[in-house]
Amino acid sequence: MRRILCVLGVLLTLTAVGQKKTVTSITQQITRNESEAHLTFLAADEMRGRDTGSPELKIAGNYIATWFHQHGLKTLPGAPDFFQPVNLEKSTPANSGMAKLGDDTFQFKESFLVLGGSNTTWNGEFIYVGYGSEEELDKVDVTGKMVLALAGSKEADNINKVFTASNSKYSTVIARGGEGLVEFLTFSQIPFPTLVNFFTGGPRWGLQVQGSAQPHIWLKPADLKKINFREGDKITGSLSVGGQKREPMPGRNVAGLIEGTDPKLKDEYIIVTAHYDHIGVGKPTGNQDSIFNGARDNAIGTVALLQIAKYLSQYPPRRSVLLVAVTSEEKGLLGSRWYVDHPLVPLEKHILNINCDGVGYNDKSIITSISLGRTTADEKLKVAARAFGLGVGGDPDPKEGFYERSDQVSFAAKGIPAIKLQPGLAKMDDEIRKYYHRQADEVSTLDFEYLTKFYRTFVYTVSLLANEQIPPFWNTGDKYEEGGKKLYNRN
Ligand SMILES: [Zn+2]
Repeated sequence: MRRILCVLGVLLTLTAVGQKKTVTSITQQITRNESEAHLTFLAADEMRGRDTGSPELKIAGNYIATWFHQHGLKTLPGAPDFFQPVNLEKSTPANSGMAKLGDDTFQFKESFLVLGGSNTTWNGEFIYVGYGSEEELDKVDVTGKMVLALAGSKEADNINKVFTASNSKYSTVIARGGEGLVEFLTFSQIPFPTLVNFFTGGPRWGLQVQGSAQPHIWLKPADLKKINFREGDKITGSLSVGGQKREPMPGRNVAGLIEGTDPKLKDEYIIVTAHYDHIGVGKPTGNQDSIFNGARDNAIGTVALLQIAKYLSQYPPRRSVLLVAVTSEEKGLLGSRWYVDHPLVPLEKHILNINCDGVGYNDKSIITSISLGRTTADEKLKVAARAFGLGVGGDPDPKEGFYERSDQVSFAAKGIPAIKLQPGLAKMDDEIRKYYHRQADEVSTLDFEYLTKFYRTFVYTVSLLANEQIPPFWNTGDKYEEGGKKLYNRN
């Protein structure tokens, strides 16, 4: 027993010495001046808010690739010169549309909204499926039919969750051979005319994907009580959508690899992501200019990637680390959604996604993990934060659906354990709203003393997880646990 204690004691001391060395080297490598320089470049007015499709987003991509090159990162097949092509498309919204369901008519803009799909003229049978959950869809055959459902899901209690649920339902319906998805919007948090303005106001961005020709429509019923269909009911009707145009546009994710040093573990990849786009230029408001600089959202995250590239290229971990700056997050997580359908190494070799994206910060005593409590990666994060004098905070307001609203969810949806780290967010308040998607999100308003601690913690977290023998996994009961078991054959 004594001997065991003695061995344990030596091991603990060795670990402590190793950790101290790592903390010292991170402190030396990750400096305030360098972060400040990167942030100043990426969020400068001249970068005009790094909008999707803009020349400035290209410049930002080149900047990241140059840094990867300088630090000796490897390129992967599928991303020559560090660039993974992402097939985007720009679409002009519909200008006409109508649905007839039995005796009821729904007119464009008044009670009819196009979420996706091409122009169409369609007559046939609608099939009602309730909310259209997987279980509900299992009970019917939707092949060749227009699927009629309630928008969102039973659980979706805010508009973001309704959107997310609707979009994944659309993919499921198309995969099952449905002709399209028509949903009754029963949710009234946002007035229908506001949604209409959002969906008809100017061109929209998406991915060039197969199956996107089928319509995805929301209808606003005049009288909710009239929706008294039962699951499996069939209703004859028609549908038309006109005026839409689609134009293919090239996009790019920027990807570089740090190969692991352990002969076995190097075949396991941690993928660290951050979106490098923002929302571009708008109209000047009040005493503000027209440029949405996106210093917090998400130059901060992009610089976290650059810091990882610098540190891990000099201190490579046992596992391989793939760094991917993803494009067009602001247009609907497009870069990360493209990545998980076109991964640069097989999906099951990605053992963890660490995404850095934040709305801003208002607690400089912590680093925030929106995913706290969801995976076994938490312990390493706590160790890293403690080393740099920070605490760890979780999701301050799960109702906001932060986890579902950034790139980590693209990975989680495939079963890959995915965590989201960002500077300290104690709650959504005016301090956050003042900058979030506003022109005021400028580098001059950042606290570099705090951000340096944040970056060091971030780098240390990645390093610890990339050296850990056992890969992290979803905690028992998490909604993505089953997907993870399937992906890694853990059953
Ligand atoms: Zn963001």
